[in-house]
Amino acid sequence: MKIAVTGGKGGTGKSMVATSLAVEYARKNKTMLVDADAECPNDHLLLSIKRKLHSNVYQPIPKWDFEKCTKCGKCAAVCKQNAIVFVKGKYPAFVKDVCIGCKACIVACPENAISETKKQIGTIYTGKNYGVELVSGELKLGELASGEIVSEVRKESDRINGRLKAEVMLIDSAAGIGCPVIASLTGTDYIVAVTEPTPSALNDLNRVLYLARHFRIRHGIVINKYDLEKGFCRKTEEFAKNNGIPVIGRIPYRKDFVESTIKMKPVVDINPSYRKYFSEIINRIDA
Ligand code: SF4
Ligand code: SF4
Repeated sequence: MKIAVTGGKGGTGKSMVATSLAVEYARKNKTMLVDADAECPNDHLLLSIKRKLHSNVYQPIPKWDFEKCTKCGKCAAVCKQNAIVFVKGKYPAFVKDVCIGCKACIVACPENAISETKKQIGTIYTGKNYGVELVSGELKLGELASGEIVSEVRKESDRINGRLKAEVMLIDSAAGIGCPVIASLTGTDYIVAVTEPTPSALNDLNRVLYLARHFRIRHGIVINKYDLEKGFCRKTEEFAKNNGIPVIGRIPYRKDFVESTIKMKPVVDINPSYRKYFSEIINRIDA
C-alpha cells in the first residue's frame, strides 16, 4: 500500500506525522518511508538516521559549439526560463542554475550548434532506523527542478522495493500543490492531508484536497495541534463534514513534540502514550 502524507501549507507537522506513522506501521509491517520533500528533506533527522549516498540525479543541459554559432539569438528567444542571455552581436551566455533541461534551445538552433550534456541536480540517500527503511531525495542548493528529483526518488524507491518488498510505503510529500507534490501523490492508494486549526492552513488544505479529488485517491484529514484553537478546529471539522471527507486523526499540541524534534527521536519514543494517535490514523486508513 502506498500512502502519501501531504499538507497544503508548510509547518503543519506533515513530516512528524509521516515519520510517526512509519514507526507505528513498522511494528507490524515491512515499511519504507520515502522523503520526497526534496527541497527540505528532514525525515532522517526526525528518525536519527545517518543517510548513505545511494545515487546522484542528473538533468540534461545544453552545451554550445561557438564554431557553429552565427549569433542569431533564436536559442535565447525560446528559453522560457531566461537561462540564455543574448546581446546582439555576441555569443549567447548560459545561466546553468535556472535551466530546467527542456531542450527547446537545442531544437530551435538552426545551426546545430547546441548539443546535450548533463548537470547534477540532486542526490538520493538511503538509511534505516526504528525498523523504517528510508529513501530520501535532496535537491542540490540553487537548483529548481524539485519535481524531477521527486519523480526520480519515486522511481528509485520502487526499484529498491523490488528487493525489500515493503508492505507499506509512506511518501512524505513537499508542502503546496506544485509539481513536486503532484509527483509525490501520483500512483498512491491513500492521501493523508495534515492541517492545523488556522485560517491559512484550512485555505491550503482545500487546495491540496482538490488534487486528491482530481486524481480520485482516497483521502482523509489529520488535524495536528487540534487543541491549540478549538473554535477553529470546529471550522475545520465542519469543512470536512460538508465535503464528505473523514477526519482520521486529531493530534494535540504538547511540548513532547518539541522535545522529539530537539532529541531527533519519534514522539512515540519520547512518550509511548502517543502511539494511540497514530494507530488510530492507521486503523482509519486501513478501514
Ligand atoms: S534546455 Fe530549456 S531551460 Fe535550458 S537553456 Fe535550453 S531552453 Fe532554456
Ligand atoms: S540558436 Fe544556435 S546559432 Fe543562434 S545564437 Fe543560439 S546557438 Fe547560436
